[in-house]
Amino acid sequence: KKRVFSGIQPTGNVHLGNYLGAIRNWVGSQAEYENIFCIVDLHAITLPIDPKELHTNSRRLAALYLACGLDARYCKLFIQSHVREHAEASWIMNCFTPMGWLNRMTQFKTKAGNNMDTVDTGLYCYPVLMACDILLYQTHYVPVGDDQRQHLELTRDLAQRFNSTYNQAVFTIPEPQIRTVGARIMSLEDPTKKMSKSDPNPNAYINLLDDPKTIKKKIGRATTDSERLVKFDPARPGITCLLEIYRSLTGQSQETIEAEFAGKGYGDFKAVLTDQIVETLRPIQARYHELMSDLPTLEGILKQGADDIRPLAASTLQHMKDVVGLG
Ligand code: ATP
Ligand code: MG
Repeated sequence: KKRVFSGIQPTGNVHLGNYLGAIRNWVGSQAEYENIFCIVDLHAITLPIDPKELHTNSRRLAALYLACGLDARYCKLFIQSHVREHAEASWIMNCFTPMGWLNRMTQFKTKAGNNMDTVDTGLYCYPVLMACDILLYQTHYVPVGDDQRQHLELTRDLAQRFNSTYNQAVFTIPEPQIRTVGARIMSLEDPTKKMSKSDPNPNAYINLLDDPKTIKKKIGRATTDSERLVKFDPARPGITCLLEIYRSLTGQSQETIEAEFAGKGYGDFKAVLTDQIVETLRPIQARYHELMSDLPTLEGILKQGADDIRPLAASTLQHMKDVVGLG
């Protein structure tokens, strides 16, 4: 079986974008692959985060993975900092990463904003750690949202360059798996930006744990325009963002959806969309609360996951050290 690796940062509230762009696809193809899914807590400290919140978020995220349908029979789930090989490999890889390559990363520019001098270097080196997360497991496929395309390209470049520097196949060259629908869900407040956990405005995203009332309120106030035509239209990013969510949730085509809402207004569409979201999240939330009521079992799954995959990470790291002349 081919191996799949992916992860999410325990930085805050997992949202509909994370679900549609990532988790749902992991669940859909888990039986086909050998899967490793990580809670990337080392990435979560690249921006300030409260220690207690980080610890709790990591467990919550693990519970959400399972609640969304990941099955421990098919998947290894673990917390990144439990496998110290990630940090060690990342230091070595930092020493083989041209600054010019990192200077081109758009996520760094977006997240650093105007704080280029005060932001910590971890944020700058984040793509190198991400590359190592993937490369340590000789990963074939990396299912992610569209925003990670550039980091995946960098991962491939780093792997190829390292292999050719030492003329050895230390790393498998991974391929991104980015779907055409749902790979970039936009912010409900500003539909020119992607939906993000780290958005300071909670109205910008639907949290997977939002109750029906909150979902109704957020969809109700989501940015649209004054045209009132329920149609996909790049010139009207607000309604298009909501239609994309609907398309991704229902699996229907653009034409079917536009026909369904022909002659209807934004209010009608928003009501149907709200119901669709509420019904998608209902079973996930029920299962999540069950899982969170038994933390020892959850901790057990995470420990087992880390124990099972550590030897693979250790063997790749050893190979890296051998070719470099370390150890
Ligand atoms: P943060 O703001 O902390 O970076 P995030 O929402 O970008 O949070 P990540 O943990 O960085 O979430 O990404 C987890 C996964 O979700 C990745 O595969 C990423 O590509 C995907 N993803 C993130 N945002 C979206 C989105 N708006 N639409 C679709 N997929 C997304
Ligand atoms: Mg992100």
